[in-house]
Amino acid sequence: MKEFAIIGLGRFGTSLAKTLVNLGHSVLAIDSSEERVQQISEIVSHAAQADATDEEALKALGIRNFDVVIVAIGQDIQASILATIILKDLGVKTVIAKAVNELHGKVLEKIGVDKVVYPERDMGNRLAHALTTSNVLDYMELTPDYSIEEIVVPERMHGKSLGNLNLRAKYGISVIAIKKPGGCLIPGPGADSVFEPGDVAVVIGTRKGLKHLEEK
Ligand code: ATP
Repeated sequence: MKEFAIIGLGRFGTSLAKTLVNLGHSVLAIDSSEERVQQISEIVSHAAQADATDEEALKALGIRNFDVVIVAIGQDIQASILATIILKDLGVKTVIAKAVNELHGKVLEKIGVDKVVYPERDMGNRLAHALTTSNVLDYMELTPDYSIEEIVVPERMHGKSLGNLNLRAKYGISVIAIKKPGGCLIPGPGADSVFEPGDVAVVIGTRKGLKHLEEK
């Protein structure tokens, strides 16, 4: 079980804290607002009111003993940057920070944050893909070139096997899993797996290759 600390209990920080607790992890939730701390105190293992730009306050909470600290302060960019610098200086092994824009993210990277997350940008990206293509259900960008997509298998592929379709050789696409209409999942389907109407394929590939699948 990993020990997490989350600083900033806005919508993102709160949602992250609740999910980590549901997954069985111990979470220390920190916010400068007493009200926010009160609201989350019944859900997480520990909650504390503290200003994350105050090094002594963070030290007093034993912050350096946590495996991962997530800085989920968004609007107050100065506080987000100061808190991140303090955490890295204190020797916290893994610091993850939320950025509200590209410039904020670049600064966080320059000061040595281990990972920057852009929840608003990424969610907007995913929704845009789902809205503008008729058969893409979900989308995750791995790099600017490679993505994973959950896609309704187009009619032209019904009744055909993976071996027959040869998607990897033709388009550089690998099928990771097939979800059957009843909810049954076939992980790592073999060449003899046949696509049926209603199937959803989880695929990985290049932007260009995936575009081919998106065309019905
Ligand atoms: P979300 O979009 O996730 O709701 P947000 O990007 O709007 O969040 P804010 O609301 O600005 O982010 O900040 C999230 C939380 O961070 C707030 O509850 C705020 O009280 C807290 N916060 C801001 N500055 C500090 C600080 N210096 N120390 C501790 N907590 C802070």
